[in-house]
Amino acid sequence: MGVADAAFSRRLAQNGWVGMAIPTEYGGQGQGAVARFVVTEELLAAGAPVAYHWIADRQVAPAILRHGSESQRRHYLPSIARAEFSFGLCMSESDAGSDLAAVRTRAERVDDGWELHGTKLWTTGAHTATHLSVLARTNSSSSKHEGLSQFLLSLPHPRITINPIQTMDGASHFNEVVFDHALIGHNSLLGTIDNGWHQVTSELVNERAGPERVMSTLPLLREWAALHPQPVDAQVDVGMLFTRLVILRLLGLAVAATVDEGGDAAVLAAMLKSMGTTFEGTVLDVIRLHRTDRPDLESFQNAVDRCLIESPAFTLRGGANEILRSIVAKALLPR
Ligand SMILES: Cc1cc2nc3c(=O)[nH]c(=O)nc-3n(C[C@H](O)[C@H](O)[C@H](O)COP(=O)(O)OP(=O)(O)OC[C@H]3O[C@@H](n4cnc5c(N)ncnc54)[C@H](O)[C@@H]3O)c2cc1C
Repeated sequence: MGVADAAFSRRLAQNGWVGMAIPTEYGGQGQGAVARFVVTEELLAAGAPVAYHWIADRQVAPAILRHGSESQRRHYLPSIARAEFSFGLCMSESDAGSDLAAVRTRAERVDDGWELHGTKLWTTGAHTATHLSVLARTNSSSSKHEGLSQFLLSLPHPRITINPIQTMDGASHFNEVVFDHALIGHNSLLGTIDNGWHQVTSELVNERAGPERVMSTLPLLREWAALHPQPVDAQVDVGMLFTRLVILRLLGLAVAATVDEGGDAAVLAAMLKSMGTTFEGTVLDVIRLHRTDRPDLESFQNAVDRCLIESPAFTLRGGANEILRSIVAKALLPR
C-alpha cells in the first residue's frame, strides 16, 4: 500500500476516490465495493502512496457503518471520506496473532468511560495515524472468543506510547503500541460490548479480499514479462502467471459484488487471500528461476531482491495462510 502521504490522500479524496463505498449521506460517494475495487487496482498498479487513508477507507469505515451509533457515523465517516482521519488497527499482540481471540489487552469500565491497558504489536501506520481501532478484552470470565470489544480513539493520548519496529529491509511501517491505563470516553465503544470477535471477523473480509492481496509483485511481473528476448519456457510461465492473475481478479470482484449485495463473503475472502498471496510469492519464484546476469537488468534484479526481503510478510499480514485455509476447510467439510 506504499507510503503514507496525507496530502496525496486528501487530493485523492477531493476527486471522490476515498470513501467510495461510504454512503453519500455520510460524506462518501455511495458507489459501493466493486467501484472501490476498480479504483484501488489502478492506484496499486501505479504504485500510488495510499497508506494514509488505506485502513480507514478499507475496513474501519465499513465497521462503523455496520456497528457504529448514528453519532459515531456522523463523527467519523465524513472525515474518513475526506482523508482527514487515518487509522491504525490494534488487533495483534505478542501471543495473539493467528490466535487472535487470545488478546490480553484489557478495557475496564470506569466512571468516565474505559481504561485500556496492555501492549499491541505490528500496528501498521500507528506513527502517522490520527486514530486507533482497538480490540480489547472486556470480560475475562467468558470463553476467549466472547468477552472482546472494539474501541475507537483519537491520538495523541498522554498514556499511549507508539514505538517503531524496524523490519529486516530497514523500513519501519509498523509499531508496538503501549496502553498504560489510557482513559477513553464512553462513546469510544464500537458496537456491542463483548461482541468484538464477531464484529472483527466480519471486518476482516474487507482486509483480506482487496487487490493488495494479489498485486504486491505485479510491477515486477509486468516489467519481467516485457523483457526481450525471453526463452520459450519463460514465455510459458508468463502465460501461466497472467492466467492466474485474471482468475484472482475475478474472484476479488466476486467478493466485492457479494459485499455490495449484503452477502457473507468470509470464505471467499479467505480463499482469495490465501491464493492471492501464494501467487505473489510464485511471481518472485518464477522470476528468480529465469534469472540472467544481463548487465542491463541490474536495477531490475535489485528490485527483485528488495521484494524478496519483503515477501515473508505477504502470507502473514491480514492472517496467515494456514489459518485462512482452515477457515475454508471448516466451511466446506462436513463436521
Ligand atoms: C506487514 C505486516 C503488517 C501487519 N499489520 C498489522 C496491523 O496493522 N494490525 C494488527 O493488528 N496486526 C498486523 N499484523 C500482524 C498480522 O496480522 C499477524 O502477523 C498474523 O495474524 C500472524 O500472527 P503472528 O505474527 O502472531 O504469527 P503466528 O501466529 O505466531 O504464526 C507464525 C506461523 O505459525 C503458523 N501457525 C500459527 N498457528 C497455526 C495453526 N493453528 N495452524 C497452522 N499453522 C499455524 C502460521 O501460519 C505462521 O506461519 C501485520 C503483519 C505484517 C507481517
